[in-house]
Amino acid sequence: MISHTALAMALPSPLTHEDWKQRAAGIKHKARLFIDGDSVNAADGRCFESINPANNVPVCSIARGGAADVDLAVGAAKRAFRSGIWSRIAPRERLETLYRFADLIEREATELSLLDSVEMGKPVSDMMTIDIPEIVKTLRYFAEAIDKVEGTTTATESDVLHYTLRQPLGVVGAISPWNYPLLMAMWKVAPALAAGNTAVLKPSEAASLSCLRAAELFVEAGGPPGVFNVVSGYGTEAGEALALHMDVSKISFTGSTAVGRKMLAYAGQSNLKKVGLECGGKSPQIFCRDLADLDRAVTSAIDGIFANMGEVCNAGSRLLVERPIYADFLARFAELAEGAYQPGDPLDPATTLGPLVDRNAQVRVQAAIEAAGQAGARAIYRGTVPDHLADGAYIAPTAFADVRNDMSLARDEIFGPVAAIIPFDDPDEALAIANDSVYGLAAGLWTQDLSLAHRLVKEIEAGVVWVNSFNDGDMTQPFGGWKQSGNSRDKCFESLLEYTQIKSAWFRI
Ligand code: NAD
Repeated sequence: MISHTALAMALPSPLTHEDWKQRAAGIKHKARLFIDGDSVNAADGRCFESINPANNVPVCSIARGGAADVDLAVGAAKRAFRSGIWSRIAPRERLETLYRFADLIEREATELSLLDSVEMGKPVSDMMTIDIPEIVKTLRYFAEAIDKVEGTTTATESDVLHYTLRQPLGVVGAISPWNYPLLMAMWKVAPALAAGNTAVLKPSEAASLSCLRAAELFVEAGGPPGVFNVVSGYGTEAGEALALHMDVSKISFTGSTAVGRKMLAYAGQSNLKKVGLECGGKSPQIFCRDLADLDRAVTSAIDGIFANMGEVCNAGSRLLVERPIYADFLARFAELAEGAYQPGDPLDPATTLGPLVDRNAQVRVQAAIEAAGQAGARAIYRGTVPDHLADGAYIAPTAFADVRNDMSLARDEIFGPVAAIIPFDDPDEALAIANDSVYGLAAGLWTQDLSLAHRLVKEIEAGVVWVNSFNDGDMTQPFGGWKQSGNSRDKCFESLLEYTQIKSAWFRI
């Protein structure tokens, strides 16, 4: 999905830990809903507390939107759509606005980095080198794609002219998670807006501030009021109201499979809106005995499960290793993991491992680690978390060997820095293990055998297969899952088309 190595595009960041702390203290949080071009309180005045998971200290109170606020936001988006101020302007005018929006995201990179960092614990160094550059690329990619959307004329009778049009859907509702807060939101909002729709975004309650700020920047970039609205709040309140709304034409959702199921039900209970789902995963990586470079493969395995605290939908959480290289793989994993991810204050540029998103996640992941040991898995690597971080929701990165694919550790999405290493005897066994999962988001394959690679690429049940790399790619890559990992694609030109609908125009001449 998002490379923590190859794609990282460093923004200049001369700030020290002290600088970041001072900036964090000085931020004036924009913690109100953003509807029709204005920051407003929730209709009933309610708020919720955002807590910094690095130290358990409140960040600020954020407006807690509910059904009434969603109704206002959808109403504004519908009026904006119908007025044509966005949907009917020349595509290149939309392009210019999205380009200016991308420029403003770059201008505000430090503030946006801080906002996500203090809310969900991501190290600022990751924000500056991964999230922000990827957000900017996303906006520019879909801006550039705006005027490449084409209809067709078809071969028909001589006295008929038949053409198809790709038209926007109307109001798109986007519901996003907290693990890459602004980036995941922009993977939805950017193509939706590029295609001429208007949008109402419900960001995760665990990280809303960057999305609220981005909506202001969109208006500063010249985006008309009502085109991009953000309603912060809880999933069961604002999220449910958005997904059930009769004037929302599509829900584009990224989050857990459990909540993804509900999206389909909400669509059925309301207006049969289209539903695009990007859900969870339990991605396998297959390491064959003939792989070219063990250290490169092991380093990629470590990054694939420990980066972003393991809170990555396509994390390579199941590492399938062929028996002849199994012992060496385990030894190198333990050696190379040592010190690779440094727990610390997310505002310290040297930190590479922040806390998990909250205390509940910490308790859940710790319980999964203990259960894995009790089930017979063998811990081959345990990182350490220094005592001074005890107030934060930190988890030491951990890897287990001798895991069986029927253990909970190999079946359930842990969403933390915990690797399950499973031995296999031949590629067909590896394939069977890889596909023995309800998920099908991504997979990695490490081999020099081209025939084997092409065969397994075809047979692995996943939306993305990386060969001799992992978590790699660019904006042209369709990103999304098979099976219970989802039903749509982010990034890529095809995802832009998912925010359009086809009309057939049949002229009898
Ligand atoms: P989540 O499912 O708990 O929440 C996602 C969003 O849904 C949040 O905004 C939440 O408020 C909202 N929500 C929750 N209940 C709702 C309801 N009843 N009605 C409407 N909205 C509701 O997921 P999360 O904890 O925020 O994110 C982690 C999950 O996201 C993991 O499972 C991860 O794999 C997945 N994810 C998938 C991708 C992908 O591209 N496939 C990318 C990132 C994260």
